[in-house]
Amino acid sequence: MQKLVMKFGGTSVGNAERIRRAARIIKEHGTRETAVVVSAMGGVTDSLVEIANKVAQGAPEEEIKKFVGDVREKHIATIKGAVSKPHQEIALIEIERLCTELEKVLTGVSYVGELTPRSLDYIMSFGERLSAPILSEALNSMGAKSKWYTGFEAGIVTDSSFGRASPIWSETNKKVLKVLKPRMKDSIPVVTGFIAGDAHGRITTLSRGGSDYTAAILGAVLNVDEIWIWTDVDGILTTDPMLVAEARTIDVLSYIEAMELAYFGAKVLHPKTIEPAMERGIPVRVRNTFNVENQGTLIVRKQRETGDIVKAISVLKNAVLLTISGAGMIGVPGVAARVFSALAAQKVNILMISQGSSEVNISIVIEKSDLEKAIKTIKEEFAGKNVVKDVQYNKNVAVIAVVGAGMQGTKGVAARVFTAVANAGVNVLMIAQGSSEVNISFVVLEKDAKSAAKALHDEFIVRK
Ligand code: ADP
Ligand code: ASP
Ligand code: MG
Repeated sequence: MQKLVMKFGGTSVGNAERIRRAARIIKEHGTRETAVVVSAMGGVTDSLVEIANKVAQGAPEEEIKKFVGDVREKHIATIKGAVSKPHQEIALIEIERLCTELEKVLTGVSYVGELTPRSLDYIMSFGERLSAPILSEALNSMGAKSKWYTGFEAGIVTDSSFGRASPIWSETNKKVLKVLKPRMKDSIPVVTGFIAGDAHGRITTLSRGGSDYTAAILGAVLNVDEIWIWTDVDGILTTDPMLVAEARTIDVLSYIEAMELAYFGAKVLHPKTIEPAMERGIPVRVRNTFNVENQGTLIVRKQRETGDIVKAISVLKNAVLLTISGAGMIGVPGVAARVFSALAAQKVNILMISQGSSEVNISIVIEKSDLEKAIKTIKEEFAGKNVVKDVQYNKNVAVIAVVGAGMQGTKGVAARVFTAVANAGVNVLMIAQGSSEVNISFVVLEKDAKSAAKALHDEFIVRK
């Protein structure tokens, strides 16, 4: 029998009607062994992050009560619309239990007045812990047999990098096979995406958007036939549809192409999703909950020869361009290496690197959330030595990546890319060094990102 992992994103479980729709989709494929991964209802994780920050800065108790009240109401209304009796009662009890716990946690943070990455993960975990019982009981209401699990209960064990945890594969393999696999035979497990636990059982998260990654982790361990990511667009599109209205669905992509797109900002897939799937050669399908007829995008190892040079253009916002400079860097070997290893030790994710031939400066692109940590790390690394003089940054940049396996060995692509961008009046701030052969990536001011993406989409996709 075919085995599947299906993941439903926040919009796809955004209200009662959508949860029923998701449950129907799951049930329709019930002839196969299926494990389901679910995100928090749309907007819930954002609201948890927001209240956590407010509470740490001293928001009054009434605000906590009001917030938890709203969360409770939203989920209860969803249960009433998506789950029938007697299953309603089970889901309602769970929601009540979780809301009481959430109020306690938020109150705790307000007393301490500090939000650690560990407490933030704990607070963010409520989004998925609230949605999973609802989807699971909606399935039970439809006559399917289902149980819900947290990612940790399902067997995903991570390191303790709160906010950006990675699975410990040996443990995860053992536990998922022991816990989840046997249960798939006669029921449909619904697992919370995004959250897991470390070796001490403390709740961790896989970084924002990480439910896709949960699906891929489970899919790889269970060695399923396919991993399906159900979302709110028809698949992976030629560019972000929010930026360029003409974006269209791509039928087939290779793992590498999809990985590059996800890494450089195509939000439809969490950047780490492809890795476990690729390792095991499991096809990933991205499909639209609101348009089930559409086959979506299939991601496999070997891309079909389409003759397309460029398949898609991605845009990554919330990036920062850091420039590290100092005349003392000239001729001093290993400055770049020291910068990178110091940043890596602090788990700062480096998206791009470039060093001018003059050696007077090194430019790197990182995520905005890592800015403070990165500057502190670099300053400490070179403290007291006359090597690095200055660390400057520009917080308002975006990375544009042009992706397509057809670029390999095709002459003149870079010239076409930068001519199109220049003709759109956009200034390029930095070009990556040593990028993979299937992408050309560069940095522009965030305000120019849309014009650049549109110009490239016109050049390579619309006109070809
Ligand atoms: P989910 O909640 O299902 O995980 P996300 O909001 O995380 O969904 O990702 C889907 C969204 O990603 C789309 O609605 C779209 O706005 C955005 N997106 C950005 N780039 C792309 C792209 N190249 N293809 C498809 N969607 C994209
Ligand atoms: N709910 C989490 C987030 O909003 C994870 C996800 O949706 O994939 O980041
Ligand atoms: Mg997502």
